[in-house]
Amino acid sequence: MAEILQTRCAIAGGGPAGIMAGYLLARAGVPVIVLEKHADFFRDFRGDTIHPSTLELMYELGLLEEFLKQPHQEVRELRAVINGQSVPIADFAKLPTRCKFIAFMPQWDFLNFLSTHAKKFSSFQLLVQHEVIDLIFDQNRVAGVRAKKPGGELDIRADLIIGADGRHSIVQARAGLERQEFGVPIDVLWMRMSKKQNDPQQSFGFFQHGKLLVLLDRGDYWQAGFVIPKGGFDEIKARGLPQFQNDIVSFAGFLHDRVAELDDWSKIKLLTVQINRLRDWCRDGLLCIGDSAHAMSPAGGVGINLAIQDAVATANLLTEKLQTGPVSVDDLRKVQARRQWPTRLIQTMQVFIHRNLVTGQTSHRKDSLPIVFRLLKWFPVLRQVPARFIGIGPRPEHYSGRGR
Ligand SMILES: Cc1cc2nc3c(=O)[nH]c(=O)nc-3n(C[C@H](O)[C@H](O)[C@H](O)COP(=O)(O)OP(=O)(O)OC[C@H]3O[C@@H](n4cnc5c(N)ncnc54)[C@H](O)[C@@H]3O)c2cc1C
Repeated sequence: MAEILQTRCAIAGGGPAGIMAGYLLARAGVPVIVLEKHADFFRDFRGDTIHPSTLELMYELGLLEEFLKQPHQEVRELRAVINGQSVPIADFAKLPTRCKFIAFMPQWDFLNFLSTHAKKFSSFQLLVQHEVIDLIFDQNRVAGVRAKKPGGELDIRADLIIGADGRHSIVQARAGLERQEFGVPIDVLWMRMSKKQNDPQQSFGFFQHGKLLVLLDRGDYWQAGFVIPKGGFDEIKARGLPQFQNDIVSFAGFLHDRVAELDDWSKIKLLTVQINRLRDWCRDGLLCIGDSAHAMSPAGGVGINLAIQDAVATANLLTEKLQTGPVSVDDLRKVQARRQWPTRLIQTMQVFIHRNLVTGQTSHRKDSLPIVFRLLKWFPVLRQVPARFIGIGPRPEHYSGRGR
């Protein structure tokens, strides 16, 4: 027999969307349980960017000062090395936000910080090592989740279930929500190499002949993402590790003295990139947000921000009702209506980036600079456009403080 708990809101998934939604609801006194399948937040493949709009939100929540005491790097300008030429891409100096930079912080530190603050509210509970394996229905209404936990199972019944369980969401699959897929021509190989004192500063990435190497500064090592054509990993493996190491060095020559650290394919992980979104993000008793509602590509590095914005919109629109009881499907649809067009716009941009910049289908000369980058190089004012798109995004959400 499964153990049974009752709460107002149960959230599947302790990523940026789930933890932020849990924090905001609990802060307003709504009893909330977040279920996370892993034992902690310490794992890879997540992206490390905390955007100016998220930092603004931290300010609105009164957490910014303490947050910025956590180890992080502040990146005020994004540059890329494209076919050997260094090009400024985005300049955050003129953003209308308190923090005019992206904070690079390992995502586990960000989630630890936020969940530590959430735990200060008696209405917040985080259950780790609890994997949602099914939904519980009362007739046609989603009335709870079933989770696998060490030594057994747990049923949580709630007025609202939020699916924030990422791009392989079990919640949206079990709810039978229809998903639209958008073809993605790339995958990413993910690995780490040590960092040395004289290494160049973090940049947006190294583009070459339609290929891309991204290096994220993680203090004493580089987290590297190497973009490859979809399904191309087997061919890369067949060419052998030394050839792969040479490929990396051809992008970022300074790595030549440590690329040998990649001495086994087990150190190189394949991340399958997807772009998709649900037609309906909700049904009676259930709402999906973040990657669970719309899986994002790493292109532009905006998926975390979007997931957080979804969480804020959810709290702003639903808190008052959740303080006293269930929410209707019409209430849930308001969240989708608010967040749908920013999602569409960003995903359209990501598809454009895949087609035109990363896979280089429009660049014929191998040493040429695509026109978009030439314009960014010549006209500094244009760098404010990507800065706004990446740093704030369309329709930024602000904490309404409703129901505090
Ligand atoms: C290679 C790669 C690099 C990226 N880099 C960036 C970047 O630099 N910047 C950026 O903004 N975005 C980046 N993204 C996109 C970003 O990772 C996502 O858009 C963002 O993490 C979505 O947040 P989320 O909370 O919705 O989902 P997730 O971050 O996927 O979190 C989902 C959580 O749910 C948990 N979970 C899953 N299933 C269950 C279950 N059944 N039961 C309980 N828990 C469950 C997971 O363990 C996880 O903690 C990248 C994506 C990829 C693939």
